[in-house]
Amino acid sequence: MDVEVYRDLLLHKRDEILSDGGGKPLRASMDNNTRQGDLADQADGTNEVHIQLKVKQTDAKILQAIEEALQRMEHGTYGVCRDCGDMIAPARLNAIPWTRVCITCKQKQQR
Ligand SMILES: [Zn+2]
Repeated sequence: MDVEVYRDLLLHKRDEILSDGGGKPLRASMDNNTRQGDLADQADGTNEVHIQLKVKQTDAKILQAIEEALQRMEHGTYGVCRDCGDMIAPARLNAIPWTRVCITCKQKQQR
């Protein structure tokens, strides 16, 4: 397995998340909320903030997972399933390079 390829994928994704942030969308929505509008306007503003917070949380989770994956590369354990110790299929790593578990264990979690 070529770990360097996945390291590139992880670093690229991390840059993408970090450059995407900066709190700009959140601030714009807060401006929107302070504006005096009718109830429909206020409801829309609230939904917007809610959705953006949800996205932020997902990004934070992925960032954390990326950092962990990079650490596993340092330790030479990248691509090994955290739960069963088997190798994670390359197709899965290509799709989600920061994943911690193999597809079998993932499916067990979802049950
Ligand atoms: Zn597993």
